Amino acid sequence: HPGRMEVITGPMFSGKSEELIRRLKRAQIARRRVICFKPDLDARYHATAIASHSAQTLSAVTVATVEELKAALFPVIDQADVIAVDEVQFFDKSLIPLSLELVRRGKRVILAGLDMTFAGRPFPPIPDLMAVADDVLKLSAVCMQCGAPAIHTQRLGSSQTLVMVGAGGLYEARCRACFQPSHDEP
Ligand code: ADP
Ligand code: ZN
Repeated sequence: HPGRMEVITGPMFSGKSEELIRRLKRAQIARRRVICFKPDLDARYHATAIASHSAQTLSAVTVATVEELKAALFPVIDQADVIAVDEVQFFDKSLIPLSLELVRRGKRVILAGLDMTFAGRPFPPIPDLMAVADDVLKLSAVCMQCGAPAIHTQRLGSSQTLVMVGAGGLYEARCRACFQPSHDEP
C-alpha cells in the first residue's frame, strides 16, 4: 500500500473528531489496523478514547509529546496500517517529519486539529501539514452568535491560562463577522 496523509481541520465544534472517528471506523470495517493518539499535557501515555462533542468515541492512546508518541508507536508499528492523531495543535513541529516518515513507510496517516489560534492566526503544526498532505478537509462549525458558517474559535472570558483543554463553556464557534480576536494570544 502506498502511504497517504490526510488532514481534517477547522475551528472547535466543526466536527473534526466526528470525521476522524468516521474514517477510522470505516478503516476498521475494511480490516485495516488502526492506532489513534491524542495529547494529554499532564499524563504519561495510557489507553483512553477520543470523543466528539456529539459523544461518539474511539479508543486512543494518550501521549504528552511527539517523543512519547514515537515511543508508544514504534514497538507496534508493524501492526498498524492507519495512524491517527487528534488535537494536533498540542504537538510540536516534529510531528511533520514523523508524519512524512510514516507515509514513506506506507502508512495512512490522518491528522485532525485546529488551523487557527484564538487570535485568528495559523496554529502550528496544522498549516505545514496541510501543505504536504494528500488530502485536506476544512470543516466549518455553526456560529453561536448568528448561525452562519463559523471558521473561528472564540475564547470567552479573560483567562491567562495558556492551554485550557476541553474546558466546557470557555469557547464558541464564530463566523468572521462575530469573531473578536483576543490580541494577547499567539
Ligand atoms: P471538533 O472535533 O471539531 O471540536 P466534534 O466532532 O467534537 O468537533 O463535535 C462536533 C459536534 O458538536 C457536532 O456534530 C454537533 O453535534 C456539536 N456542536 C455543538 N456546538 C456546535 C456548533 N456551534 N457548530 C457545530 N456543531 C456543534
Ligand atoms: Zn456570526
